[in-house]
Amino acid sequence: MTSILRAISCLDDYDPESLPVPQAQVILQSLVEPVTGTERLFVKNALGRVLARPVISPINVPAHDNSAMDGYAVRATDLHGDTETRLRLVGTAFAGRAFEGYVGPGECVRIMTGALLPDGGDTVVIQEVVKVEGGEVLIPAGQKPGQNTRRSGEDLRAGLPALPAGRSLRPAEIGLLASLGIAEVTVFRRVRVALFSTGDELCSIGSQPKPGEVFDSNRYTLCAMLTRLGCEVLDMGVVRDNREDLEAALLAASANADAIVTSGGVSVGEADFIRDTLSRLGEVVFWKIAMKPGRPMAFGRIGNAFLFGLPGNPVSVMVTFYQFARDALRKLSGVSPLDPVPLLDVPCETPLRKNPGRTEFQRGHLFVQDGQWKVRVTGAQGSGILRSMAEANCLIVLEHERASIAAGEVVKVQVMDGLV
Ligand code: AMP
Ligand code: MG
Repeated sequence: MTSILRAISCLDDYDPESLPVPQAQVILQSLVEPVTGTERLFVKNALGRVLARPVISPINVPAHDNSAMDGYAVRATDLHGDTETRLRLVGTAFAGRAFEGYVGPGECVRIMTGALLPDGGDTVVIQEVVKVEGGEVLIPAGQKPGQNTRRSGEDLRAGLPALPAGRSLRPAEIGLLASLGIAEVTVFRRVRVALFSTGDELCSIGSQPKPGEVFDSNRYTLCAMLTRLGCEVLDMGVVRDNREDLEAALLAASANADAIVTSGGVSVGEADFIRDTLSRLGEVVFWKIAMKPGRPMAFGRIGNAFLFGLPGNPVSVMVTFYQFARDALRKLSGVSPLDPVPLLDVPCETPLRKNPGRTEFQRGHLFVQDGQWKVRVTGAQGSGILRSMAEANCLIVLEHERASIAAGEVVKVQVMDGLV
């Protein structure tokens, strides 16, 4: 296993006091390796899981030549190039009920979408352009040989990969597997993530907060984000700000999980004793990331578990999770290749103040006005204001070198949710 500290010390211009966001992302990606354990699952239960082996198609798709349209199956050699052709109608081919006969010279067969192309027929003329006169069909000039047909194996060939290893299974992949008649797949086991919040001021929901206490919201936010990522979450509750409790929690977490996600305790005032504890137990680097919100963060390894020590402020927790933990945990889950999160160019309705030298993530609301997509910020942007996140449907990403933004200027936007 690569030593984290050794790997990092080889990097050019590595500055843990002001690490640019893209550099931190690259370091995380280079250090995290996918889990190796696998399991067999019914396709129906495999949504969101990651294929551990490529899926080889057992069949041709389509399995047989068939019609792409409702119309008439004909022989291309019968058609006169520039004039109408008159053909004799000899039967009908339905989807699921083939025409048993043969399309001989001068003949045609009525055919439905998905029906097998009858022997002899090689071209389909759509029903809208033909004239039917008794038992005869008039085909207009200008048809192309082979048109409106789907050929056996044109989508997928038997014996070739239908899906690669590393693919995360969405509804489209689930349907594709079913279309191949595949009932079970081999997927990576779920990544186990131990989660706890740190802080003497935290009150668990269900209890009455004493003066100065706040409800522990981060654990719920993080649990929700981890669940959406497909991780198995070990919720370890709140750990108080003392050495013994923290050490015990980290040791238990590292023994039982592939990754540990914590919130709080990494800011300047608190980092010292956490730093001692972490460095005694494993290899941990403290980063001040050149970003807002979410400047302090810890990353490392305790035993076999990767540690993501996220800041305590509720918005910082979400932003750092999205920008760092998400992709690292996806890689740990076996997803490959990791496509970058799409960044859209959208004009920003409001001016935004910013200094160059750090990446800023503002909470934004994407909306349509007069047919044009625009974005605006969701009110006050303090890193403790979770409301700004709940009202947002995107993050406005203001790049490291960028200065203030004038109203109407185009900014990069990261959409927070996908379709189902
Ligand atoms: P810290 O990073 O521990 O100094 O925390 C920074 C701020 O975030 C403080 O105002 C904390 O009260 C708040 N905070 C820390 N942990 C949580 C949590 N689990 N839920 C809600 N707020 C928190
Ligand atoms: Mg704290």
